[in-house]
Amino acid sequence: MTEKNNGNLEGRETMTIPVVDRRYQMTETKKAKEIIERAMNLAREEIPKGAVATYIPELGKEDPHQLGICLYPLKGDKICLGDYDHRFTMQSVSKVVMLIVALEVCGLKNVFRKVGMEPSGEAFDSLVELDVSDSKPYNPLINSGALAVCGLLLPEVSFQDMLRYTRNICSDPGIELNESVFDSEMKTCSRNRSIAYLLQSKGIITTDVEDTLRFYTKMCSMNVTAESLANLGKKLANDGVCAITGKRFMSSRTARIVKTLMLTCGMYDGSGTFAIKVGIPTKSGVGGGLLSVSDKRAGIGVFGPALDAQGNSIAGCKLLREISNELRLNLFYDPEWDKEQDDEQNEETVLREMQAKSVM
Ligand code: GLN
Repeated sequence: MTEKNNGNLEGRETMTIPVVDRRYQMTETKKAKEIIERAMNLAREEIPKGAVATYIPELGKEDPHQLGICLYPLKGDKICLGDYDHRFTMQSVSKVVMLIVALEVCGLKNVFRKVGMEPSGEAFDSLVELDVSDSKPYNPLINSGALAVCGLLLPEVSFQDMLRYTRNICSDPGIELNESVFDSEMKTCSRNRSIAYLLQSKGIITTDVEDTLRFYTKMCSMNVTAESLANLGKKLANDGVCAITGKRFMSSRTARIVKTLMLTCGMYDGSGTFAIKVGIPTKSGVGGGLLSVSDKRAGIGVFGPALDAQGNSIAGCKLLREISNELRLNLFYDPEWDKEQDDEQNEETVLREMQAKSVM
């Protein structure tokens, strides 16, 4: 689908910013496609190092070898490769949708009264911080924080409302609740149940715990594609507005907060490393999805169900890393950046050299 002119968007300056570096403007879709294809081949090599999630038994049935991407620039043609149209469950990527709706419906103050805005440095299902009496979840993009957000949402919206909103913001009417993944997770979610009861004991959740847990788990069990995530990312990249229709899905303040939290907290205890290596605000899910936002440039959706130790798509992260600088998607784009020098195997050498030069 080709982007239409955005004349109806009050001449927003964001609309006129080139999508990518002049060398790879999206009129040069072919060039960008070649770059992504090369990156996909490199990324596929990572797959054997990862594994599909099995703690939700139904997710264990996914073929780990799949990899797909959809990159949708604000201007120019969408690029779809590999398993971009395969349906998988949104899992933690839905925390972005929950946060958007909570900020819009309940307001910023109410949301951040219940959750913080700091990276946790802990696993996504951690409950350590909840053991301290006056604490609240670190941020809304980990399980405890999202459950607290669900407690706020439950009196305001139904799951059907959330499903409708998700279909609209993802421009994907095909999104449904995956009943088998939902049932599978509900049978094995004792950890989330513990978190929810702890939140109730602290007065952070005042809704019925089981209802809150079901709402949260349903949100995680919505079936999306890499393409639907790219559509969502594109709206975030464009400050909450659909670049085609001009329809606003959230305030620009909400979009800014969500993107910032995606950068600092979207990859759990891998967020800092990912920010350095990739530099694109991203939210992952254990279904293998990655939602990325290259601000004012493009929305990106990735699917790769083999996960790394943090529960992030192992090939998906590599793929984003490979394309981030070349397509000028990195927030801190550096034309001089030399990927080879930044590679892990070289890190030790750099450290040794610095020590030798007494820099450290
Ligand atoms: N539904 C999953 C859970 O709560 C989501 C976790 C994730 O995607 N990291 O455990």
